[in-house]
Amino acid sequence: AKNAGRNRHAWFDQSMERELQARNETERGLRAAVPAHQIVPYFESQIDLVTGRLAGFEVLARWEHPTRGLVSPDQFIRVAEEAGLIGELSVAIMRQAFTAARDWNPALTLSVNISPAQLKDAWLAQKIIKTLTETGFPANRLEVEITESSLFENLALSQSIVASLKNQGIKLALDDFGTGYSSLAHLRALPFDRIKIDKSFVASAVENPESAAIVNAIARLGDSLNLPVTAEGIEDAGIEARLRQMGCARGQGYLYGRPMSIAQVRRMLAEKRLL
Ligand code: C2E
Ligand code: CA
Ligand code: CA
Ligand code: CA
Repeated sequence: AKNAGRNRHAWFDQSMERELQARNETERGLRAAVPAHQIVPYFESQIDLVTGRLAGFEVLARWEHPTRGLVSPDQFIRVAEEAGLIGELSVAIMRQAFTAARDWNPALTLSVNISPAQLKDAWLAQKIIKTLTETGFPANRLEVEITESSLFENLALSQSIVASLKNQGIKLALDDFGTGYSSLAHLRALPFDRIKIDKSFVASAVENPESAAIVNAIARLGDSLNLPVTAEGIEDAGIEARLRQMGCARGQGYLYGRPMSIAQVRRMLAEKRLL
């Protein structure tokens, strides 16, 4: 029995060791990936639910890995944050996205995701504004999505970053609303322009009455605060119809298509005569 225990320990150590190795490998790869332009922006369509027209895109990071293929952000954003690489990665994605999108139809907006860790960088606003200036993408077509209670870790700094952004005409969205990372108190702490409902509520809104009630309550909240609401994770027309009824302004999700590369967006926009 003693032996078995020792073996179990050895096995446990080995598996932890392997996990640590994999993480270190990701970190090492990521360090090289940004300068090698392997981190690229993908674009998810956002639809105006009233007119049914394309309103803009959410920018989503992808890693074009030389051997692993297209890697999703769930597998590297956390590592980038922990390794102190998220700021550099974020600017690289914005630079590519802004450069591509400045030639698209001027009515189309871009939304970018900002990690909580980035709100501790006193230079964040300057970095975003500099990237806009360098690429020529207009500030009033950019929306920044932020989440999480770490806003309150340094609320004064978050507020001053946000003030600088809004001063330039950049919009501010509260992402993943309702998931516990974003709370009602955030709505008062910062001058948001939009609320985004997380896909975990949206996806189940047709079959689950509680989800539907939560989505409806968020839509009513947006209404009374005069904040347009975007619903993410719309996968079928039934949910889309419900959300439109509830007064959601915008929607995004697989119903409208998967996130696209720059080349795919250009092709889609050319077909719609929106280039
Ligand atoms: P998020 O901000 O909540 O983004 C929405 C996620 O839901 C995206 O996953 C999107 O592809 C996915 N999604 C959209 N519509 C549907 C749908 O109809 N059904 C389902 N099942 N999923 C849908 P993705 O691209 O894997 O991104 C995951 C998360 O990674 C994002 O969640 C965001 O928090 C983070 N992320 C992505 N890009 C960046 C970035 O450039 N910077 C930072 N800091 N975080 C990023
Ligand atoms: Ca988002
Ligand atoms: Ca998010
Ligand atoms: Ca979400």
